[in-house]
Amino acid sequence: MALAHLPRVPKGHGLRYAHASVKVPHFGLWLNGKWAEAQSGHTGEVLNPATGEKEATFAMGDAADIDEAVKSADQSFRSGEWSELNPRARGRVLNRAAELLRSALPEFVDMETRQTGRCLREYKAQLGRVPEWFEYHASYAAAKGFEGRLPSLTEADHINMVWRVPLGVCGLITPWNHPVLIAAKKISVALAAGNSVVVKPPLEAPVTVLRLGEVLSMAGLPPGTLQVVPGAGQTAGDALARHPMVEKLDFTGGTATGLQIQRSMAEAGRVRAYSAELGGNAPILVFSDTRKVQEAVDGVCFAAFVASGQTCVSGKRVLVQDEIFEEFQDALISKVTSLQVGNPLEEATDIGPVVSARQLERIEDQVARAKAGGAKAVTGGQRPSLEGLLGKGHFYEPTVLTGVSPENPAFVEEIFGPVISLSRFRDEEEALALANSSDYGLGGAIWTEDIRKAFRVARGLRCGLSWVNCHHRNDPSSPWGGFGQSGIGRENGPEAFEEYTTTKSLTIRTNETAENWFGSRSARYG
Ligand code: NAD
Repeated sequence: MALAHLPRVPKGHGLRYAHASVKVPHFGLWLNGKWAEAQSGHTGEVLNPATGEKEATFAMGDAADIDEAVKSADQSFRSGEWSELNPRARGRVLNRAAELLRSALPEFVDMETRQTGRCLREYKAQLGRVPEWFEYHASYAAAKGFEGRLPSLTEADHINMVWRVPLGVCGLITPWNHPVLIAAKKISVALAAGNSVVVKPPLEAPVTVLRLGEVLSMAGLPPGTLQVVPGAGQTAGDALARHPMVEKLDFTGGTATGLQIQRSMAEAGRVRAYSAELGGNAPILVFSDTRKVQEAVDGVCFAAFVASGQTCVSGKRVLVQDEIFEEFQDALISKVTSLQVGNPLEEATDIGPVVSARQLERIEDQVARAKAGGAKAVTGGQRPSLEGLLGKGHFYEPTVLTGVSPENPAFVEEIFGPVISLSRFRDEEEALALANSSDYGLGGAIWTEDIRKAFRVARGLRCGLSWVNCHHRNDPSSPWGGFGQSGIGRENGPEAFEEYTTTKSLTIRTNETAENWFGSRSARYG
């Protein structure tokens, strides 16, 4: 289908166009290329974290719906309609999806903000880049991904060739904090590699992932190749983890959930590939040679407070060298107190709510325990008082804690909210020791003007992603993933493509000499 003839996503207010006659739109499961109701008959609600208003309802799938989705995805894989399609032809579909997504961005940005409470401004910037994931994986798969290998065997009369092939049905379990970005990172490479996919999006924010399923169908993806089944983690998520037809499970979320999924897979007696992008507790090391202290303060504020501190690489443990500590602290407090907390749909807002009442209570508990352990809030440390509907939102002031020892909960735990600790260090050795004294190892950043120090310290940081004089840069070509309790496997780049495929090795004997193992005592074995 030519791009010009593709159905365009109609313009409208949010996603309400889909159900223009009803105030609160309802979304089914996305199964076999169309909307379907859940066999459970259960319905979930998307509540706006800033106001408590109901933004949408959706069909909640359970184990029976997951079973249906996986079986159809498996059929689709076996049919070869997608899995055996030339990678360039698959790429054309993914490129069309990228274009469709671009044309539908305003709807996606609006709904993403309403679902999660993250600022509209952030989603405008972030979702504008999501189509690149489809484009990158489409071109990598077409140009390079499936190129085989001819390993050099020790025998000239045998040829060994290696094919790269897709896995089958891949199960994806995704979180609410970047609903579309994280789902798209995984879906794009899984499909480019020729797999079929079943996604279990988060209960808090399933709508945009459901819509992504619809967009891919509009682009020409065969029915059943991408299924989206929202549902509770303990039912639908668990059923996906245990399903015998799933060849790979790819999860992003909390470390405890990631471990539970490993247990479920083992209990179900399934051996399968598993990628897990888990929690983080990113250190930021600010060295005293940082010439422009204000620039570092601005960078740290972005790292710490974008998404109200709810990203896996949010800067959490800010470590500043003695010589500039006081200057940095004063500038940081002044910047943090200037941040506007408010309605995330308004462009001027810097800090929206956290995602739920439960998450807000968890942050309050963590800050209370941090204070009991000797920490002090030099700014923030409480809920703001907001008027009107926003009074019902789950807001927390951006908070800087000082007096945080390495044993304090604020240093040890991931606080998934707008709360950071500010500590000092003497020298490079102490900075690295503090930074690496965490079970997590996902993101980390360094602020310095000294290029040799930058490389040396980056090499010493025990984390999968590090940045110098910036934070949170992310690209489909660059691997993303952590060490230790931050997970296993990598998203993005050739690394992800390899994780969504496997190899087949074929050895061919070319000589005409008869081989008779039992008739000869000198034949080669292996
Ligand atoms: P979560 O672990 O509560 O939920 C993530 C997903 O898992 C949801 O879809 C949920 O329904 C599902 N789930 C829950 N219990 C399950 C079970 N028993 N079996 C199967 N599925 C289950 O995480 P969250 O609160 O949505 O996200 C926040 C966490 O995710 C943070 O720890 C954050 O650091 C992490 N995260 C990591 C990355 C990364 O790239 N490493 C990116 C984003 C978020």
